[in-house]
Amino acid sequence: MGRKKLIVIGGGAAGFFGAINAAEKNPNLDVTILEGSRRLLTKVKISGGGRCNVTHSCFNPRDLVKNYPRGEKELLGPFSRFQPEDTIAWYESRGVKLKTEQDGRMFPTTDNSDTIVKCLLSAAQKNDIQIKKGMLVKSVVFKDNHQFLVQTRDGEFIGDYLLLATGSSPIGYAIAKKLGHEIIEPVPSLFTFQIKSPLIDELMGLSFPEAELSMVPHHADPQPKKKFKPFSFKGPVLITHWGLSGPAVLKLSAWGARELAASNYKASLTINWVNISNKIIFEKILERKNNLPKQSPRTRTLDPLPKRFWLRLLDVVGVDESSCWSDMSHQKIQDLSNLITHTNLDIQGKGEFKEEFVTCGGVNLKEVDFRSMASKINPNLYFAGEILNTDGITGGFNFQNAWTTSYIAAVHLSTLQK
Ligand SMILES: Cc1cc2nc3c(=O)[nH]c(=O)nc-3n(C[C@H](O)[C@H](O)[C@H](O)COP(=O)(O)OP(=O)(O)OC[C@H]3O[C@@H](n4cnc5c(N)ncnc54)[C@H](O)[C@@H]3O)c2cc1C
Repeated sequence: MGRKKLIVIGGGAAGFFGAINAAEKNPNLDVTILEGSRRLLTKVKISGGGRCNVTHSCFNPRDLVKNYPRGEKELLGPFSRFQPEDTIAWYESRGVKLKTEQDGRMFPTTDNSDTIVKCLLSAAQKNDIQIKKGMLVKSVVFKDNHQFLVQTRDGEFIGDYLLLATGSSPIGYAIAKKLGHEIIEPVPSLFTFQIKSPLIDELMGLSFPEAELSMVPHHADPQPKKKFKPFSFKGPVLITHWGLSGPAVLKLSAWGARELAASNYKASLTINWVNISNKIIFEKILERKNNLPKQSPRTRTLDPLPKRFWLRLLDVVGVDESSCWSDMSHQKIQDLSNLITHTNLDIQGKGEFKEEFVTCGGVNLKEVDFRSMASKINPNLYFAGEILNTDGITGGFNFQNAWTTSYIAAVHLSTLQK
């Protein structure tokens, strides 16, 4: 009997990782990667600002899944079998060492994504994987004999197994749909917020390490049936030249991705810039007034606020250069406290986040068996990576999703026929 053929559509992170592991685990499998563009592993190359944030130092699958707004439940099983620890070991056994940054993100010690690209290319070559570039797959037909006919502009391929790893490509979604799968409408995740407000204009670069954010998208339905529970997160926030960014903002964008898309990226945002209660902030300001009656409030900031932000707050509540603390009314102190702990801003649109961008949406998770990543609809069809309706927040979680799901698919494929 001839060798069984695995065709992998997509030469990205998930496609390469799946192909390599399937070939390594079952040398009897004939593996081909079809990549539509002229380049391989493009996103790996540009990822993490050219450094490739390969994974995250989070080693408990139950904690790990909490970083996935979509896929939290389904990824628990796969992460119990292949998680960041396994990713680290996989690369290390192929000569690539990873290091951990303070926030848990993991990069190659070379700080260069080429290290990861080269490692994957060399592992593919070592395992005799055929790689065909510029081979954009137009359609896939499932034949009566359980084989797949893969059609490209430049020819046809026949495979016994198919791994669909086309990321967020519309053609990939169309192929999955034609093979019987429901596609949850793709919308962007991981973006920043466009906000114009006199409180933050021209203060780009200021950061607030412990802010607390709460967001309610302007609902398309003016009378929603149930009361909307705001999305809330604590964490660092950064003022940019177009609005707000930072980990807490990116988390809001990920968890609220669908609702924000429905509201055309219009939402109300409430910020406590320091995550300290209004009462305590009020008392801190009052203490300042009582201890330094003759001093100008503009002389010194109220910790932990950056000085430029403190001056802006004073401008907004109307405390000018000539005032001293003794001039400050109770009402002004209350206004200041309210601004610090309860700023209301309008999100007016979606900004970019150049470091990372992912799509929420894709193949309906109910139609995939996460023990094997096989389709529950079409025998011998597998999915891995961003084509699935799974996505993580920024920090290496999206690549971990690609490594894990493709690895699980490869393990299953390797057991089918040795
Ligand atoms: C700028 C940027 C930076 C990022 N940085 C990070 C990071 O540091 N860490 C992290 O965890 N995540 C990061 N991400 C997210 C991460 O890159 C993706 O989640 C990951 O690449 C998904 O892998 P994939 O293999 O599923 O899809 P992709 O990497 O998108 O690969 C899919 C491949 O399929 C090919 N393809 C599509 N359709 C067809 C077709 N019809 N026929 C043939 N080939 C086809 C595409 O050309 C592509 O090469 C970043 C994303 C971006 C955009």
